[in-house]
Amino acid sequence: MTAGIYLARARRKVVIIDKGIPGGQMVLTHEIANYPGFENISGYMLATNMKKQAESFGAVIKSNARIEKMSLDGERKTVELFGGEVYSAPAVILATGGRSRQLGVKGETEFTGRGISYCATCDGDFFQDKEIIVVGGGNAALEEAVSLTTYASKVTIVHQFDNWQAFASAVKEMEENPKIDTIMESRIVEFKGDMSLQEVVIEHIPTGERYTKKIDGTFIFIGYVPNTEELKGVVELNKWNEIVVDDKLMTSVDGVFAAGDSIAKRYRQITTAVADGTVAALNVLEFLNDKE
Ligand SMILES: Cc1cc2nc3c(=O)[nH]c(=O)nc-3n(C[C@H](O)[C@H](O)[C@H](O)COP(=O)(O)OP(=O)(O)OC[C@H]3O[C@@H](n4cnc5c(N)ncnc54)[C@H](O)[C@@H]3O)c2cc1C
Repeated sequence: MTAGIYLARARRKVVIIDKGIPGGQMVLTHEIANYPGFENISGYMLATNMKKQAESFGAVIKSNARIEKMSLDGERKTVELFGGEVYSAPAVILATGGRSRQLGVKGETEFTGRGISYCATCDGDFFQDKEIIVVGGGNAALEEAVSLTTYASKVTIVHQFDNWQAFASAVKEMEENPKIDTIMESRIVEFKGDMSLQEVVIEHIPTGERYTKKIDGTFIFIGYVPNTEELKGVVELNKWNEIVVDDKLMTSVDGVFAAGDSIAKRYRQITTAVADGTVAALNVLEFLNDKE
């Protein structure tokens, strides 16, 4: 939507095609406290504001639109929607975002946003003086566990193996933190609660023994999945299926740019997605001006 705002304001014809509701992951976010200019705003409100702003400059937004076919090579790129509607343009920006990898256990979907989170930066401060669990054993899990001790009174890391998949420096920092405990060779098999998360059922993998632990929150860091399944063979993806871009945010295909969480990058936030949208749009303008 940021790219749409910039391009429509530059008097270019823009269509934003989204298979869901425009706003992406923002719409799933109850409260956003780190978007500059808004001390606190609901994700839905921020998405609605961005949508209105893009539309006010003339961008057309197609919601719930499934892409049936894409042909992005060549001078004119075409996108055909389910139902037969076809759009064609000299440039395309891919901003398909992504999703955190889920554990896939009972109660996870139900308590997401009500005690379960996949983003420490986003939700850490809701757990001031609370006891939380971090799931995972890689760099992200250990670094985020340490960062969450700024808020939480106690952080317990639950990890499925008996060793860490993280850099020695991250392990050392985690081990030296007095607020962190670890439960190894174990996994969460169920989340339970009433209105919000209250307990987890933990299984010790080697013995199969299960027990219940009371907890205020759980942060899950077991990987990230970019929404690029439909882009395989269309643009170059790296081994994590993230879109490979150059410093102009152009993909491997001339005239096809990419922005936001689906590109290869480290930090995935609204501000970084918005910044990518701006950079991609300005480079699209330059690309179109050069062509003309
Ligand atoms: C629960 C939660 C809380 C968060 N809290 C914060 C926070 O407080 N602050 C913060 O800065 N960040 C937060 N984030 C991260 C932030 O939401 C993302 O970094 C940001 O939304 C990325 O924007 P994006 O446009 O790149 O991708 P997304 O928001 O993922 O949007 C991608 C869009 O593309 C659409 N799409 C995907 N594939 C296709 C396709 N094939 N065809 C058509 N449309 C498609 C999707 O429907 C979606 O609307 C949070 C994330 C989550 C999940």
